[in-house]
Amino acid sequence: MIFLELPKRIEDTRALLRQFSEAGLRPLSRKYDLLEQKEMPEELYELSKLLGSGNRGGGRGAAKPGAGDEAGNRNANNMSMVVSSAEICWGDVGLFLALPNVGLGNAAVSAVATDEQKEEWGKLFAAMAITEPGAGSDSAAIKTTAVLDGDEWVINGEKIFVTDGYRSKQVVVWASLDPTLGKAAIKSFLVPKGTPGMTVTRVEHKLGIRSSDTAQIVFDNCRVPKANLLGNPEIAKTAEARKKAFGGVMQTFDNTRPMVAAQALGVARAALDLTYDLLKEKGIELDYEKGYHQMSAVENDLYDLEAEYETARLLVLKAAWMADNRQPNSRNASMSKAKAGRMGNQVALKCVEICGQLGYSKAHLLEKFARDSKIIDIYEGTQQIQQLIVARQVLGKSSSELK
Ligand SMILES: Cc1cc2nc3c(=O)[nH]c(=O)nc-3n(C[C@H](O)[C@H](O)[C@H](O)COP(=O)(O)OP(=O)(O)OC[C@H]3O[C@@H](n4cnc5c(N)ncnc54)[C@H](O)[C@@H]3O)c2cc1C
Repeated sequence: MIFLELPKRIEDTRALLRQFSEAGLRPLSRKYDLLEQKEMPEELYELSKLLGSGNRGGGRGAAKPGAGDEAGNRNANNMSMVVSSAEICWGDVGLFLALPNVGLGNAAVSAVATDEQKEEWGKLFAAMAITEPGAGSDSAAIKTTAVLDGDEWVINGEKIFVTDGYRSKQVVVWASLDPTLGKAAIKSFLVPKGTPGMTVTRVEHKLGIRSSDTAQIVFDNCRVPKANLLGNPEIAKTAEARKKAFGGVMQTFDNTRPMVAAQALGVARAALDLTYDLLKEKGIELDYEKGYHQMSAVENDLYDLEAEYETARLLVLKAAWMADNRQPNSRNASMSKAKAGRMGNQVALKCVEICGQLGYSKAHLLEKFARDSKIIDIYEGTQQIQQLIVARQVLGKSSSELK
């Protein structure tokens, strides 16, 4: 049975992060939205020291003692991650992504690296580079290669739209050991910044999350030690084992999708809270005592938005709870991402609509929340791709049977 009571440790962190978001991030939101990537958010680096060195990169099944019920249910690292991500994204999604030591690559390392690798690389700020000019939704179509030459892997290829690709200290890059063997040969590699042959060639200009950098990275005979391949270097031989092997790298997404979904919870909550504040300034407050027939159109809209938010929130918490309790959560991770990604954008846009010119004007952050929310429905697998994954699992179809 799902158990959502949070340990005191997570509750305390949530309260601290709300203060951090409100007093630390919000005053910087507009400045770095307007500056885009022209300046590094230096204040953010100072502020982030307040957060300590906890791993905010995700981790599978890290069920350390915390609040638990009699059946032994636990809420641990994964739950902490989604609660924390939502709270920081209530402050600002773009600045959350720009925080040092928070990177999707960190979660990849947590998901697939060996214990020795995690120990060796310690505190990371790693971006995750999967997408290529010819491979977005279909991540198995990547063309980047890694060839073993003595004790080193030689990586060649081009990655695009890498979040934190410019500012991060490491990049986790997906490459194929043998393109003729399809997705079973895809492995991930940790490449530290400064490695010869890895070059950031472009930084994108974007609709939203403008304080976060999104980069193109080219690998030209980039050599990394053999040990930088994350997880198992073997290419599976049988069809069944190959399916599992790709599942290994894909397991990264079981960790990261609930975390990304949690970003949508943060931005939707921020939009709703700001809407209530702006309406209050105009003398409009929700009256929960009112009957259905007395309700105004605005009240009706806001109750609908709250219901959408709550549905997404419960799906995200369930996906995290499953990971903490070592239950396979691929389907739930995709359900949470599909629902929350869509909800975040719908809620933020509707809040802009409800507030009219106040919503659209740069005098307030609502228009920014709406811009920031759209990417959450796209990266880490679009809404349509999440729905496809759920459909495959419900119908028992493979990726080749249901495309
Ligand atoms: C700001 C930003 C940051 C990003 N950060 C990262 C990052 O850190 N690392 C990284 O590797 N990538 C990153 N990405 C890339 C992102 O993950 C991809 O954009 C996303 O996976 C979609 O791929 P695509 O853009 O090539 O679109 P396509 O795959 O070409 O899809 C286009 C449209 O077709 C739909 N579609 C595609 N296939 C199907 C199907 N089979 N059935 C139904 N609909 C389908 C999609 O849902 C989408 O609506 C980022 C992108 C952006 C914009």
